[in-house]
Amino acid sequence: MTPFCDAFGRAISYMRVSVTDQCNLRCRYCMPAGSEESQGETMTEDEIIRVIEAAAELGIKKIRLTGGEPLLRKDIVPLCRRAAAVPGVEEVCLTTNGTLLSGMAATLRDAGLRRINISLDTLDPEKYARITRGGSLDKALGGIEAARSAGLRVKINTVLIGGFNGDELPRLADITRENDMDIRFIELMPMPMTEGFGQDAYLTFREALALLPGLRPLPGDGVARLYQFEGARGRVGFISPMTCDFCAQCNKIRLTADGYLKPCLHSRQEIPIKGLDREKIKEALRQAILAKPERHPYLSAERLSTAGRSMNRIGG
Ligand code: SAM
Ligand code: SF4
Repeated sequence: MTPFCDAFGRAISYMRVSVTDQCNLRCRYCMPAGSEESQGETMTEDEIIRVIEAAAELGIKKIRLTGGEPLLRKDIVPLCRRAAAVPGVEEVCLTTNGTLLSGMAATLRDAGLRRINISLDTLDPEKYARITRGGSLDKALGGIEAARSAGLRVKINTVLIGGFNGDELPRLADITRENDMDIRFIELMPMPMTEGFGQDAYLTFREALALLPGLRPLPGDGVARLYQFEGARGRVGFISPMTCDFCAQCNKIRLTADGYLKPCLHSRQEIPIKGLDREKIKEALRQAILAKPERHPYLSAERLSTAGRSMNRIGG
């Protein structure tokens, strides 16, 4: 199936599906400190699969399960299995903080998962606990190890945070020298309802690149700019929503855990999908794709995203 195109000719073949807004961590750049009740009613397994089936009929080929923390969902394994079996879906991947992954990685692989992104902003246990408000670095590293042992392709996601992990970038990027594993450095985005990060926290892609001498450019991959160290097994990528206009390469839409399609991460516009039948879901998907703006608004430390939700309620 040829992917459905938006109003600017971008073929939309990728859907990020948030399966919960709940999380066992509280990353300072993502969500508020306190415990949060789920907002709205979380989509059921059947409802999520129905949306994925409709999306596949419109040419969506790649599904990423995310959250909140997707591994908190009791039915995450059947969700993976059923999503992977939808005709037209070529790839199901998952983004997780990894802390609950040990013991689940092989089951997820058997359910059809092939690739997993694991978030890791620091290799220092005390800093990990600080940025996640209490998380255990050992558990995250254990999750990475479990995923690799299970034969899953692992990518590390690291948010660039000036004054926090700038000094650790070489050590983090070094992971790619010996391991067949990629790392993606993501510019910090000023999301609503998170702790205030000053201007210095917004480390740019170019500033980060300057801290990593020896990287050589490779052809890009979607919204990521890719690099590699000489002789390295993995690659180093940068995703720069703040400083580089990558919207022309955007090929995705998002589904929130409470059943709204989001045409753009930074737009308040949302299209409700819960309770609709297959044809109406397809219609809503077309509407969401056609509503994608050409680019997201300018963002800065002072100019917060107009997403209207915190990141755990969108899915990253
Ligand atoms: N809980 C899972 C995790 O942490 O990987 C999945 C959900 S999380 C919202 C998805 C991704 O969004 C993570 O890689 C996280 O680092 C990233 N993220 C969250 N808030 C962000 C922000 N303000 N700027 C940049 N990336 C952010
Ligand atoms: Fe949870 Fe992921 Fe947000 Fe951290 S980034 S609070 S792990 S949803």
